[in-house]
Amino acid sequence: MKQLDVIIVGSGIAALQLANKLAKSLNVIILTKKELTAGNSYLAQGGVAAAVAPGDDPYLHYLDTIEAGAHHNNSEAVLEITKKAPELIKGLWESGCRFDEDGDGKLLLGMEGAHSEKRIVHSGGDATGKHMVDFLLSNLDANISIEQSTFVYELILDSDATRCIGVKSKRMDGTNETYLAPHVVLATGGCGQVFAFTSNAETATGDGMALAYRQVPSLPTWNLFSSILHFFMWMERREASYLKR
Ligand SMILES: Cc1cc2nc3c(=O)[nH]c(=O)nc-3n(C[C@H](O)[C@H](O)[C@H](O)COP(=O)(O)OP(=O)(O)OC[C@H]3O[C@@H](n4cnc5c(N)ncnc54)[C@H](O)[C@@H]3O)c2cc1C
Repeated sequence: MKQLDVIIVGSGIAALQLANKLAKSLNVIILTKKELTAGNSYLAQGGVAAAVAPGDDPYLHYLDTIEAGAHHNNSEAVLEITKKAPELIKGLWESGCRFDEDGDGKLLLGMEGAHSEKRIVHSGGDATGKHMVDFLLSNLDANISIEQSTFVYELILDSDATRCIGVKSKRMDGTNETYLAPHVVLATGGCGQVFAFTSNAETATGDGMALAYRQVPSLPTWNLFSSILHFFMWMERREASYLKR
């Protein structure tokens, strides 16, 4: 059993960005079920959106995102993310993450579907995710340890079942390990692998959602998530049956 200050499950951009932001005095561990780079982040090509252009505004980015999501988005989350995006991109750029620049040394901004302004930042052209992950990995301090090939399969709750205090994991060699910490962060990415056809990494199997659902099945967003998932799976089956005709 290992005791830490923070456990981060996953090693994509979400996990690595958090690891880089945490205080250096904390004893942090990153647990990831395959190699460090085996997630969707390493595959991301199209760039990152942020309202950084003169004349652009995070609120316009918010409106475009809500429109693109057909108003099904969690508007509070979209507002928070679009508001924080410029400062996060500038912070990464200033700390040495090499985003593509124009001839004047300013961020080169691309235009993509659903955006009403130029706000797509790239790194190394279409290798944005790879470059950002490599940069974030190279910046990790000595207080962050990493366990690869470590599959987290269960959350541990305290005796009142109100707080997560650790995780149970299985390593590739079949051995088990328990990690305890007052802070546990699930940064396990999406669930694209539920579909028969997907460009997602093979690690995108919705583990974080399943881990949380097992402990808190009453979370209000589960019903919506489950309905959307069933709808898309129904569409996929329908398309497959048309193709077979
Ligand atoms: C082909 C492709 C292109 C994309 N292009 C873009 C783009 O241009 N712009 C954009 O903004 N977004 C893009 N995306 C989406 C983007 O990649 C994701 O939204 C983002 O990378 C998610 O980051 P993450 O850290 O949440 O998840 P991930 O990068 O998927 O990381 C999840 C991590 O959790 C680990 N993990 C999962 N379950 C467990 C478990 N049980 N135990 C231990 N570890 C576990 C995985 O191994 C992985 O390390 C693209 C996605 C794909 C697939």
